[in-house]
Amino acid sequence: MARVAIVTGGTRGIGEAICLALKEQGRTVIANYGGNDAAAKAFTARTGIPSFRWDVGDHEACIHNCNDLAAEFGPIDIVVNNAGITRDGVLHKMSFDDWNEVMRINLGGCFNMAKATFPGMRERGWGRIVNIGSINGQAGQYGQVNYAAAKSGIHGFTKALAQEGAKFGVTVNAIAPGYIDTDMVAAVPAPVLEKIVAKIPVGRLGHADEIARGVAFFTSEEGGFATGSTMSINGGQHMY
Ligand code: NDP
Repeated sequence: MARVAIVTGGTRGIGEAICLALKEQGRTVIANYGGNDAAAKAFTARTGIPSFRWDVGDHEACIHNCNDLAAEFGPIDIVVNNAGITRDGVLHKMSFDDWNEVMRINLGGCFNMAKATFPGMRERGWGRIVNIGSINGQAGQYGQVNYAAAKSGIHGFTKALAQEGAKFGVTVNAIAPGYIDTDMVAAVPAPVLEKIVAKIPVGRLGHADEIARGVAFFTSEEGGFATGSTMSINGGQHMY
């Protein structure tokens, strides 16, 4: 029977590309999303992949949705923590809500989804968790103390949980994307984006599928020796 994979924030951008790559890998894929029902409906119509709405920052919602999905589709062996938001601003103008919301969704979401699924993976002796970090969690970024801290936290979370899963066949890895051509990057003002692209050695933004291929390596049956690692896919912008 095909292994079941959940991709959070799977209905748009990088998440959609990850869903398609995992489907191609033969997985039963389920996409989660946060609130954009129209985008989710269009995604499911386009891909045939079911989509389910809940807030990954809500601990109880992660637990009960993952339990319900496991009852319907089978045990969840693969989780890709991809859902993420930005609430940019320099520190002296950033509200506590903007700090908290980014931490709650981007970093808290990883904890909540792992709490819901890691114990089962551990018991069954096989699992794959992939967390989507960011180049800005590695290098920092002006105007993003909240996002950079949350993404940097994801890299630490990954290494710690990898140590807990290693003996039980559960790998935990991270991808640190550079700037990828999605809605999130479309929100960056054009003059700022031009300056960013000028700093990318390959001379262009990345494509969502280029991140998805890295995820598919970590989720593969053959990827079991890779754990606690962070794969940077950033066009050479930051060599970590
Ligand atoms: P998008 O903004 O295009 O898509 C974000 C996805 O996350 C959507 O499906 C959205 O759902 C979902 N989402 C947002 N909030 C929640 C929530 N509370 N609960 C569940 N789902 C939620 O993002 P990208 O594809 O650009 O980014 C994907 C990941 O990659 C993020 O973690 C981002 O930080 C990271 N990243 C992106 C980079 C880039 O250049 N694009 C660079 C480095 C990292 P809905 O449609 O309902 O809003």
